[in-house]
Amino acid sequence: MVRAEIARETPTGDTLIPRMELPHWRERYGIVAGVTTRGTGADPWDLGLIGDLPVGRVIGQWTAFRGAEPGFPLATLGRQVHGTEVMWHEGGRGWLIVDGVDGHATAAPGVLLCVTVADCTPVYLLDQGTGAMALLHAGWRGASSRILERGIRLLRGRAGTQVENVVMHCGVSICGDCYEVGPEVFAAFGLPVPAGGKGPLDVRASLLRQAAELGIGSISTSPLCTGHHRDWFHSHRRSGGADGRMIAYLGRPLATP
Ligand SMILES: [Zn+2]
Repeated sequence: MVRAEIARETPTGDTLIPRMELPHWRERYGIVAGVTTRGTGADPWDLGLIGDLPVGRVIGQWTAFRGAEPGFPLATLGRQVHGTEVMWHEGGRGWLIVDGVDGHATAAPGVLLCVTVADCTPVYLLDQGTGAMALLHAGWRGASSRILERGIRLLRGRAGTQVENVVMHCGVSICGDCYEVGPEVFAAFGLPVPAGGKGPLDVRASLLRQAAELGIGSISTSPLCTGHHRDWFHSHRRSGGADGRMIAYLGRPLATP
């Protein structure tokens, strides 16, 4: 077992949009690291760019989401493909949507890195030495294809990150008990296939093992599960594909004058 601190996301009390975040990341590092939730209204909060929701509603929710964090002139999002590409961002203004990208990274304040999730793990990485950071979307495909290593390599190449300075958090995602998978998934991770072929898989545990192998300095994981907490979160698996998407986000806001 990898030693990882348990760090629970807590509701922010934001009246504009429903969300949870890691309060100690804001206090210790000046970083916002969180995830939106379903909300309690008749229309759940759904910030995904897939599905058949009216465009006006999606844009309206995104506008409200961005308004809730005014220190970020740029927000980045990928049309995710369960791949391992992580994109570096220098800065800018507006809402950047990139095809085929499952992770984002930056060293610049004012860039809000975003990924969509609904069972997959958002992986938050912060280099305490340089202030560079990355946010990754890791389902079983991305995790077993080692998107975490890809993200660390990008931080090293672009920001000179030393891995022992990296703080990592595995955010809200589906737990092993809620996630039964077939033999091809165990094979992808190099794990033994259970008798009968199917069994529970804890993707966060695999990510934590990879983090320890990579030498990441400080590792924490959320105890919250999208499947167990359907009242808070969207769960693709538990809803049979009917649920929407949440946004996980990470960034250092511009200093307010
Ligand atoms: Zn669960």
